[in-house]
Amino acid sequence: MVTYVNRKCGNCGTSLTGGYTQSYNAIGEPYIQCRKCQSYNDHSDACTEWELMSGVRKTFFVLHMSLNAVMLSAALTFVMFLPLMDYIRETWQLVPLGALALLICGGYRILQFQRLTSRSNARMAKPSYREKLRRLGYLDSPKGAAMAPEGDFRGFPTQQSKRQAAR
Ligand SMILES: [Zn+2]
Repeated sequence: MVTYVNRKCGNCGTSLTGGYTQSYNAIGEPYIQCRKCQSYNDHSDACTEWELMSGVRKTFFVLHMSLNAVMLSAALTFVMFLPLMDYIRETWQLVPLGALALLICGGYRILQFQRLTSRSNARMAKPSYREKLRRLGYLDSPKGAAMAPEGDFRGFPTQQSKRQAAR
């Protein structure tokens, strides 16, 4: 299920990942700059900004994190069960243990998710970063490109006023 990749710079062939690394779906900068030749390499298949992710990819990301939290809490339940083994007589007594583990692991994942997306949004809020992404081809056009600052339209007839004038 987990694939390992060794990403190499498209320009000079230096390993960008320092050898083989897990292929993953992460939130972060969609490119890697080569340490040797400084050229930019696409990394968006494994890692990209939250805003740049498609709906499907966002859903997959959240599902993956949730599934991971469930598996972690199962492991945590078992760890908590070990010292309590002698006190647990009935199976249902495992339920509060499992609920507590789910609360801890789920809560941790939710906090982690909020931290990752808020950092991503903070990066995306920087005009210089958006400009960089646009130059690298990750962003098509500036947000609201069709809407130039109001001042720029002063003195220019809008489509509506032109139509009104023609009447
Ligand atoms: Zn390079």
